[in-house]
Amino acid sequence: MQGFTYDALPGRVVFGHGTFRQLPEEVVRLGLERALVLATPQQLREAERIAATLGGRSVGVFAEAAMHTPVEVTERAMAVVAARGADGVISIGGGSTTGLGKAIALRSDLPQIVVPTTYAGSEMTPILGETAQGRKTTQRSLKVLPEVVIYDVDLTLTLPAGLSGTSGINAIAHAVEALYSRDANPVISLMAEEGIAALARALPGITADPLDRAARSDALYGAYLCGVCLGAVGMALHHKLCHTLGGTFDLPHSETHTIILPHALAYNAPAVMPALARIERALGGPDAPRRLYELAATVGAPRALRDLGMPESGIAEAAAIAMANPYWNPAPLEKERLAALLSRAWEGAPPA
Ligand code: NAD
Repeated sequence: MQGFTYDALPGRVVFGHGTFRQLPEEVVRLGLERALVLATPQQLREAERIAATLGGRSVGVFAEAAMHTPVEVTERAMAVVAARGADGVISIGGGSTTGLGKAIALRSDLPQIVVPTTYAGSEMTPILGETAQGRKTTQRSLKVLPEVVIYDVDLTLTLPAGLSGTSGINAIAHAVEALYSRDANPVISLMAEEGIAALARALPGITADPLDRAARSDALYGAYLCGVCLGAVGMALHHKLCHTLGGTFDLPHSETHTIILPHALAYNAPAVMPALARIERALGGPDAPRRLYELAATVGAPRALRDLGMPESGIAEAAAIAMANPYWNPAPLEKERLAALLSRAWEGAPPA
């Protein structure tokens, strides 16, 4: 065994079916008396149902969470926190809602309980991306790491099949890059391999039957592990490209990850052989980039950036932006190769 450094992050996880019923207990455990429940407008009803289970320990719902954590929304939420004297937040939803809870925690140090309903994994990370005046910036701070995460498989049953597929592949991307991360360590690599395997096994089952509780359970477990990976070690080319594409062309988050992952892995593959072997073991056979490309088709996900509305002229622009701020990647970053990668992803061609 080679030497390694591993900064394990604190946090309590409750996982199972129907676990949202343990929320009142967790609220008492944290000593919260005035919790504000957060959601997107689309999940207002679930948020109200959750708030109702808390009786007098909830000060109601703020349901304006939006993709990429716009600071205007956070400011409105902070006004509600102050007006109602909230002493903690409960985020129920995907990465957008978790992002709002983290943005509030950054500004107030209020404790957070997160009830994730997608596979994005943000609940396990000390990372916060925020958007102000159309620009997204990302920071790491232990202040934003949630204190408690309640994974309730039953709350994921309503996640539409299409979004389940892309959200699940978004999670796989965290684990793929964790396996070849500059600061990879054997503990996180175990979680990464297990996370990829659980999701790769589960996602086709969810596409076939979104109410398949066993598949949903595997997928949420995999998403949890992949979220831990994202929070623990640094990412590389794949995440950088998705960040650039999302920010520059306003492309949807999980679909963009789903399209880019096979291509980014193909780009890095020759430089990451031991990690690749583990990814292939988790995916059940050789040629991991191709398997991920086919998994996207199996779950009915888009495979071409042009289908997300990205203009062809954006290929060169995205390659230039991705080269502009150098960052670590296992394979050298070359503008022509990046443009070729983006070009294949734009037209939906299989990975090179
Ligand atoms: P999302 O949170 O935007 O959710 C997408 C839509 O699905 C929303 O309308 C939501 O209300 C709805 N939804 C969620 N769960 C549902 C369910 N079970 N049933 C029915 N509808 C449901 O999407 P996401 O992909 O989870 O999150 C994307 C955001 O998270 C991006 O802004 C991304 O940058 C961020 N993110 C951050 C981190 C981090 O570590 N900071 C990690 C991953 C993602």
